[in-house]
Amino acid sequence: MNKIAVLYDAGQAVLSTFDLDEVLQRILAIAHDYFHLRNVAIVLLDQQSQELYVRSQIGWDEGQDKARLSLGQGIAGTAALKKQPVYAPDVTRDPRYFCSAKSTRSELAIPLMVRDEVVGVLDCQSDRVDHFDPETIDLLTLFSTQASIALQNARLYSLEQQRARQLQAINAIAQQTTAVLDLEELMRRVCQLIQDAFRVSHVSLFLREDHDLVLRAHHGMLTPNIAEGGRFAATQEPWASILADSRTSMERDLASAPGKKFFAESASRMCIPLVSFGQTLGVLALESDKTDAFRDGDQQSLESVADICATAIQNAHYVDRVKQLAYLDGLTGIFNRRFFELRIMEEIERARRGGLGMAVIMADIDQFKRLNDEFGHVLGDEVLRQVSSMFHQQLRKIDVVCRYGGEEFGILLTQVNWEQALAVAEKLRKMVEGWQFPGVPRTVTISAGAAAFPEHGKTRDELVKAADSALYAAKQAGRNRVCVGPMARTKMAGS
Ligand code: GH3
Ligand code: MG
Ligand code: MG
Repeated sequence: MNKIAVLYDAGQAVLSTFDLDEVLQRILAIAHDYFHLRNVAIVLLDQQSQELYVRSQIGWDEGQDKARLSLGQGIAGTAALKKQPVYAPDVTRDPRYFCSAKSTRSELAIPLMVRDEVVGVLDCQSDRVDHFDPETIDLLTLFSTQASIALQNARLYSLEQQRARQLQAINAIAQQTTAVLDLEELMRRVCQLIQDAFRVSHVSLFLREDHDLVLRAHHGMLTPNIAEGGRFAATQEPWASILADSRTSMERDLASAPGKKFFAESASRMCIPLVSFGQTLGVLALESDKTDAFRDGDQQSLESVADICATAIQNAHYVDRVKQLAYLDGLTGIFNRRFFELRIMEEIERARRGGLGMAVIMADIDQFKRLNDEFGHVLGDEVLRQVSSMFHQQLRKIDVVCRYGGEEFGILLTQVNWEQALAVAEKLRKMVEGWQFPGVPRTVTISAGAAAFPEHGKTRDELVKAADSALYAAKQAGRNRVCVGPMARTKMAGS
């Protein structure tokens, strides 16, 4: 065997790539082919647990590569502990021997060193007793130094690559999130971007709502145990401690805690609080299907991402709020006419598709001018507020109550026919008639007109016109009454 040629080839081969898996494969292939070894493995030292685990191997018996060796255990563990090669010429006679393949007769373990630190072991096994002569041992030892360097280079490179990828991701997230102001869309995008960039199994966003945390968006490969919109009390763990001190929490092994999992296959989790202007808006949760999957380096990058998300979410909240303000009436707090016009189109479209009907009610306070004249504008305003709040309370959540103008209200009822709409209008009329308004020593009444889709109209204009004409008919007939549709005069309720 030409030693120099072997070493040269080996060195070139392992140093010519920065890809860790490729480096490992080349090291193994060279050991296997040049030195005619039946089983070879690279075991690496887990710095945290100080255990050796198999990173890459050829020829081991199935399942054996799942084992972890502590320092000093087996031939490989002994080499790592002593920081020098250990040779067992006949493994059957060596009490330290740990079997990884039944065919093995002799084993040589060479520590892989970076400076004076052991990073792993090159574990060489042969099916022949005393396969390794001193020359081969020297050669493999020299080879292992080159392998260590290649290994270390590949690791540094992959760390650099990861950093670069994460930096890129942070930039992408920052750029994309400033462009997206719709909260739902923003949260979906953020989860996707983070999952792509950080290669975790699943990413979810929980936002604070009152005393709960609500799952608002998630993206990834795991099976959810909870639905979107699922709520948790903020006093529950892990939330309570995350929210209390606004610090990232790391759960390294969830396997033994099935009750704590949001996703079936989750084995470790990192939860980062979303803090904006000192306020904790929610939690960004990252899950992995492997235990202990998160590194400290990841934490820093992910915290930067969480900061960006928090600001973006805060901005989206503001935009939501401003949008909402644009649709609210300042005096009464119910929706304004602009919102009525927006929603009536949506409701007509929904009724057209779903066939479940919808209706419009126009309601107007009777003799309101006189009420103002008698008791003053301030009291008039108060009556408007109380009528609004009564309507709001009497109707279902899916219905829409708007101040259409002055003392006139536009109401949209979903999934009703004209008879139900008439009954609702009549209920509102009765409520107002029976209400004792503080400071108003007489009865206040309303008149209302209703029109339903499709009976009284199929477009916005037809429906509003029909409801208006019904209201007009109610006023004409003496007020404090309710009419429906263009045939108002024949269908009348109330006194
Ligand atoms: P009708 O029974 O025919 O509806 O008579 P009305 O007096 O209620 O109707 P009209 O349209 O003649 O007068 C509406 C009055 O509502 C006039 C206006 O001063 C008053 N009004 C409109 N907006 C407000 C408001 O925001 N606050 C108060 N206090 N009054 C308002
Ligand atoms: Mg009026
Ligand atoms: Mg009016």
